Amino acid sequence: MSGVVYLVGAGPGDPGLLTLRGAQLLAACDVVVYDYLANAQLLSHCPQAQAIYVGKKAAAHSVTQEEINALLVEQAKLGRRVVRLKGGDPFVFGRGGEECEALHAAQIPFEVVPGITAAIAAPAYAGIPVTHRDFNSSFTLITGHEKEEEYRDDQARERGPAAGSSDLDWASIARLPCVAFYMGVKSLSRICAKLIENGKDPQTPAATIRWGTTPQQRTVVGVLADLPQKVTDAGLKPPAITIVGQVVSLRPTMNWFEERPLFGKTVVVTRTRQQASELANRLRELGARVIEAPTIELAAPADPGAVDAALGSLHQFDWVVFTSQNGVYFARQRLLEMGLDARAFGQARVAVIGEATAAAVRQELCLQVALCPKKFVAEALADELTQAGEIAGKRFLLLRADIARPLLRQRLEALRAAEVRDVAIYQTQSAAALSPELLDALDEGVVDWITFTSSSTARNFVTLLGETRREKLRGVKLASIGPVTTATLHDLGLEPTVQAQTYVLEGLIAAMMEKSG
Ligand code: SAH
Repeated sequence: MSGVVYLVGAGPGDPGLLTLRGAQLLAACDVVVYDYLANAQLLSHCPQAQAIYVGKKAAAHSVTQEEINALLVEQAKLGRRVVRLKGGDPFVFGRGGEECEALHAAQIPFEVVPGITAAIAAPAYAGIPVTHRDFNSSFTLITGHEKEEEYRDDQARERGPAAGSSDLDWASIARLPCVAFYMGVKSLSRICAKLIENGKDPQTPAATIRWGTTPQQRTVVGVLADLPQKVTDAGLKPPAITIVGQVVSLRPTMNWFEERPLFGKTVVVTRTRQQASELANRLRELGARVIEAPTIELAAPADPGAVDAALGSLHQFDWVVFTSQNGVYFARQRLLEMGLDARAFGQARVAVIGEATAAAVRQELCLQVALCPKKFVAEALADELTQAGEIAGKRFLLLRADIARPLLRQRLEALRAAEVRDVAIYQTQSAAALSPELLDALDEGVVDWITFTSSSTARNFVTLLGETRREKLRGVKLASIGPVTTATLHDLGLEPTVQAQTYVLEGLIAAMMEKSG
């Protein structure tokens, strides 16, 4: 049985700009064939699939278009569902047409899923609307005819400026009100010169946008007469799109993306994979490039005995205490596995540390939270329970991490609780190594911030980094979520640049923004 090939537009870079159809097909495919313009983060939609990279950088030799065509045919003939993930739109200067011809010749069924093309998306993220009633009623896409190979392998580079640009009708192009040039970085001076030669006003606004829609986006703005020099001075390299037209002048009022408070900053998130997404997403919304570098991994305890005994007798306690979202997730998971639900809590009341923990209790366990102290530390919880006269003679169950501080248990015991059962509902273990993306970024010196949201992430991070790499932290700003984490950083010989005022993610982010300037 023959397989099928889906030519899927990956969009311009921002992984959120993939279509729903594209995401669906990725989730259901056996193999995905992708190259460097398709954001590798999109592979998170298809953990089940074999991923084949056909970009030039990874391969020992250049993968030719013919080889890619043959690969698609071969994989489909094995009966597989193949996604060919292509940057932007598959048919806009993407050689998708050639791939379809090859599939048609081999009688392989295919489907094409359009994507958001760079000429639309990159200007949008640079604050440039590609049409505007005051300026232009047409918008033209042109390729600068620079073959991709020309900026990737040295031999091709030596061949000099792109061949073939001369078959463009420059006299007509010069009359168009708004033009986007793909693959035109190397030939930019030639493009601008041709336009001016053919009568276009040298003062026409123009912009070149590199890696549009990604946190690495860079935009150089000028006029036809000076843009090539400005782009050279800025060291802008492919992939970049150049847009020529009056609409470029609108950028100062519409530059929503690059004006985000953390735009251009690289921020490391050291939380566990389970926890990272909330902080990472907030940081991304603020414009940061986020590197997720989990330093700890969470797991249910190897021996569930103590947990099962505790969850089986929840109703016998006066208070059940959660000090993290993770505790809630693991409790929920185990309750379900034991065939139990929220009713198991009986009359027991729930106390938590932190708004996020409170939200998790409501959402995951469908329980109300009776106590959530204003300050998100164990000390405050003990104080508020004392004030409420809720400790002496009461029975407490603490469902926490195996590495939780003993302080809360000790306080409750000292204040004559009838019982304090401290159960490790989950274990934390150190990650095996730091992610390669983080190590590369540290080596390149591009990391602006490292965030620490707990003592254990701080400790593990320093251990995983190792003595030899420690100097890479010079010049990197460190953000601590609260006094306990700060104290641990001090023990590790590190001085946090900022500490959150309120010990929650929002507080951490606010503290960073104040110092990011
Ligand atoms: N099919 C793609 C274009 C492939 S040709 C699309 O529809 O967008 C490759 C060229 O696209 C690059 O040389 C560059 O000019 C442009 N390009 C692709 N992604 C880009 C991005 N994120 N920012 C700026 N230009 C981009």
